[in-house]
Amino acid sequence: MPTTYASPPAEKTWENHLILNTFFEPLTLDQPRRTPMRELISTILSHRTTHADEELAYDRMLEAFGNWAGVLAAPTADLAHTIRTTRWPDTQAPRIQEVLRRIQAQTGGDFHLDFLTEWPVEQGMTWLTDMPGIGLKTASLVLLFNFHKPVLPVDTHVHRIAQRVGMIGPKASADKAHQVLLEQLPKDPLVLLNFHKHNYWHGQRICLFAKPDCAKCPLKTFCNYYLEHYGPATAEAIAATPNKWDKAWGALPH
Ligand code: SF4
Repeated sequence: MPTTYASPPAEKTWENHLILNTFFEPLTLDQPRRTPMRELISTILSHRTTHADEELAYDRMLEAFGNWAGVLAAPTADLAHTIRTTRWPDTQAPRIQEVLRRIQAQTGGDFHLDFLTEWPVEQGMTWLTDMPGIGLKTASLVLLFNFHKPVLPVDTHVHRIAQRVGMIGPKASADKAHQVLLEQLPKDPLVLLNFHKHNYWHGQRICLFAKPDCAKCPLKTFCNYYLEHYGPATAEAIAATPNKWDKAWGALPH
């Protein structure tokens, strides 16, 4: 029995988008979840840290030092102490201050990222990823969510699902996934936002790292992981698969 479906990866990627866009609520671009500064600094704080601990660190930092100028001027050890709910506060504190320093230098003294609106995607991506602690994922989140640039954040959930389904090779890195998935999808910020968020939700609630809940998954008809573990999806399995996320299963992550 084959262990991978023959359909081309790009077809799977588009099918994934169409199916999850129906399974979950489609999102619009008009409501960024956070300001650009908050998205950038929170994403640095979130590395291997729960959302609750990231928020706690963010709030404590601004309560302790008042504003971004205060965070930049604070003794680095004190800043590390206020963000101690994150995984690596001693590493993140100097990084945050360096990021603030570079933003201030770019704007001539202020703390905002408005200049990214006018910059071409490549210029913005290069400027952001040149800063310590900011990789492709963080830069893409800021550019897509806040500035509606056509980029795709690939977090651990998007990466895992792309590998399991066969949208990318089984050993492709997250950075490679970023490039390949972006080539497969239209350069439409709305599609990219929905693709990212829906796969993030799917990975958080159904395609879990340790034990994917494949019975509930609408991607089973073309997923290589499903084929390898259960064989081709049967008519019974397909009929038993819900076609919508049921709110009774719990809230979706932020
Ligand atoms: S069928 Fe299973 S492994 Fe494949 S995407 Fe769905 S939950 Fe993940």
